[in-house]
Amino acid sequence: MEILVCLKQIPVNESTSDNVEGRDQFELCNNRNDLFALEAALKLKEACGGRLTCISMGPAQCAGPLKEALSLGADRAILLSSPVFAGADTLATSFTLAASIRKLSPYDLIFTGEQSSDGETGQVGPEVAEYLGIPHLTRVIDVRYEEGSPEISAIKECGDCELEYVLPLPALFSVRKHSNRPRLPTIRGTLRARRETITIWTEEHLAADPGRMGLKGSPTRVLEMTRLVKAGKRQKGEVNLFEEDTACVSRLVSRLGLTRAKGQEGGG
Ligand code: FAD
Repeated sequence: MEILVCLKQIPVNESTSDNVEGRDQFELCNNRNDLFALEAALKLKEACGGRLTCISMGPAQCAGPLKEALSLGADRAILLSSPVFAGADTLATSFTLAASIRKLSPYDLIFTGEQSSDGETGQVGPEVAEYLGIPHLTRVIDVRYEEGSPEISAIKECGDCELEYVLPLPALFSVRKHSNRPRLPTIRGTLRARRETITIWTEEHLAADPGRMGLKGSPTRVLEMTRLVKAGKRQKGEVNLFEEDTACVSRLVSRLGLTRAKGQEGGG
């Protein structure tokens, strides 16, 4: 089975906002939600055999987090990195990822995370599938595959119930966060990853229009950025468990600076 996993690299300090600033200024790590996608892919590979390839689009320092994926059990890692890809919105990101996946054809399954913890749109997975013209399912919590079958079944979390879907291959799954327990790297895996090299592709390796990549290919424009100030520390509350209802209401009214209507004093 040819399994692909899309891994986004995000700034280590997650408070850094997702904007048009170059990501090359920040220390990067794998988007935590994507580790659930990687774990689902690793489990499938262990059950059915095959090859697992990780793909990431970002600046050169994404190579470090991609090595983490190799240490966890991925067979190869591809980094899409070029100034032409910079400034991409979700549409241009998905277009570029889809172009790289087309180059990796034939493939059976693509896993993405549910959403990134910086941009948080959750758009990239379904957009990649649409560009490739393959079926996709979001909020996937489990995958079941019988070797040799042209179909795969997946369980999707849907509110307070679970739904089972059967999709023809190839397909794309966005994996629900916390649907499994991502493994930790082993010493053996870490040593193996050190020896592996990351393949780097630029727009020249992709048979796709560079005009649809990066800032040029992004219809979205960031007009303004506002830093949200976190709410101040909450003041200590007051709990009155055994006080009479009426006394409690009067106290609350006076604390809120309200005046009670005449005739209501002492009322419930
Ligand atoms: P989601 O859709 O929430 O991610 C879902 C899943 O898709 C992830 O869990 C992961 O599996 C996969 N995925 C998402 N992105 C990638 C990726 N890059 N590689 C591999 N897999 C991925 N960001 C920058 O870093 N630099 C910029 O210069 C920049 N310029 C921007 C300019 C504009 C006008 C806009 C609107 C955004 C810009 N962004 C930039 C943000 C960028 O568009 C998003 O980070 C990116 O499209 C992913 O969207 P998301 O974070 O919402 O991912």
